[in-house]
Amino acid sequence: MEFQTSSNIPNAKTDHSKISMHIPDSSHPRVIIVGGGFGGIEIVKALKNAPYQVVLFDRHNYHTFQPLLYQVATAGLEPDSIASPLRRIFKGQKDFYFRMADVIKIFPEEKCIHTTIGNLKYDYLILATGSKTNYYGMKEIQENAMPMKQVPQALNIRSKILQNYENALLSNDELELNSLIDIVIVGGGPTGVELAGAMSELRRSVLPKDFPEHDFSKMDIYLLEAGPRLLAGMSDHAGKKSLEYLQKFGVQVKLNTAVKSYDGLKVKLGDGSEIVSQTVIWAAGVTGNLIEGLKPEAVKGGRYLVDDYNKVMGYDNIFAVGDTAAMLAADRPRGHAMVAQVAIQQGKNVAKNLKLKVHKKPWKKFSYYDKGSMATVGRNKAVVDFPKFSIAGMFAWFIWMFVHLLFLIGFRNKIATLINWVWNYFTFDRANRLIIRPWRKNNTYENKE
Ligand SMILES: Cc1cc2nc3c(=O)[nH]c(=O)nc-3n(C[C@H](O)[C@H](O)[C@H](O)COP(=O)(O)OP(=O)(O)OC[C@H]3O[C@@H](n4cnc5c(N)ncnc54)[C@H](O)[C@@H]3O)c2cc1C
Repeated sequence: MEFQTSSNIPNAKTDHSKISMHIPDSSHPRVIIVGGGFGGIEIVKALKNAPYQVVLFDRHNYHTFQPLLYQVATAGLEPDSIASPLRRIFKGQKDFYFRMADVIKIFPEEKCIHTTIGNLKYDYLILATGSKTNYYGMKEIQENAMPMKQVPQALNIRSKILQNYENALLSNDELELNSLIDIVIVGGGPTGVELAGAMSELRRSVLPKDFPEHDFSKMDIYLLEAGPRLLAGMSDHAGKKSLEYLQKFGVQVKLNTAVKSYDGLKVKLGDGSEIVSQTVIWAAGVTGNLIEGLKPEAVKGGRYLVDDYNKVMGYDNIFAVGDTAAMLAADRPRGHAMVAQVAIQQGKNVAKNLKLKVHKKPWKKFSYYDKGSMATVGRNKAVVDFPKFSIAGMFAWFIWMFVHLLFLIGFRNKIATLINWVWNYFTFDRANRLIIRPWRKNNTYENKE
């Protein structure tokens, strides 16, 4: 059997000629997928037993269930419950290879990718790289605020909050004490709303038991949103209800409030006022995760411009799916919403078309089936938008839990999550209040998205 080593790619920054990826040559065309997120894993699953060699790259060796990251950040779930090893998901799949590596550059002319472990040729390349935190060019905020796009970052938030509470016990200065215990969340989308609701539960039921010396009436939780309403991507009803619930939980929601700067202590707002806090969580937006090498015309608004088949504009054998892809139309000038269902359905469609190609059958255009959207605000409180109507409250909360358990990957993770939720519900406790890996500023690996 012949093994493919690095090929001679011009301009590759590093010489990887001594590294072999040990991916054997195959009689079948090779499909390289970059990203083991929601879109990427659907493609690998759907290509099982198809006449393709499938190679998946991801910088992590696990898939992250991002919708529950906020529960890791707020000590509700352990990280293992929302992450699944990619090798386990595809155990036993024939002619499939996973390599843990960062894909750094694409050489479309040579049909080759350059990665941190060498170069590899493809017949088809599928970019499923998701998105990264968007700081809208504000460098100071990027340096000082905390993102929440991946498991290590959610653990950073958990550690930092607990470390701040430990440090607050030692403080003699009122201003410093407040800056340690107050929390600011920027962005009133589902992530910000869910995080704010969970923080208010921590304040109400959990932290007072651990830190009886603190006065929790002094702990402020702010949710700052630049637009006029919460959950802008959902119905008016969902936006109003989530605002009502958060206010009931004592979260200080400030609408029409843009953050101008944050130096690690002072959050300066658009109206000139300031909030002092050492913990600012940035959930104000994301942008596509792009890889160098494609023509500038292939990118629009920070995402790859794709046609109705998810083919990247200007390329016949390169596809993009999910958050990183923008499929524009008159009724969606910025492409589909950056949500898991879009990535899953696009991934399935691309795989289906690759299978149709084998039988020389015509390809199917992508058509999004909107199953609705939802967000939870806390105990017994959630909002759910179905395509034709909207609900809020306890029933919506049960639907939210059921759907998240259903889509969580792996039976073990479903059971572990269910047990944690039942435990938290009946004991008003959150079992994972551990500073296992203390937060330190400027950990570059953890901030790589
Ligand atoms: C906190 C949070 C909460 C969310 N809540 C919801 C929700 O409730 N409902 C919902 O529908 N959606 C939610 N989303 C959005 C949803 O998670 C995304 O839309 C979805 O993950 C997109 O899937 P994807 O396959 O495009 O990318 P992802 O799932 O992000 O996967 C991308 C993968 O690519 C890998 N990668 C990126 N670049 C490289 C590279 N150069 N080399 C190697 N690997 C690379 C990454 O490590 C990652 O594993 C949430 C997102 C966040 C951050």
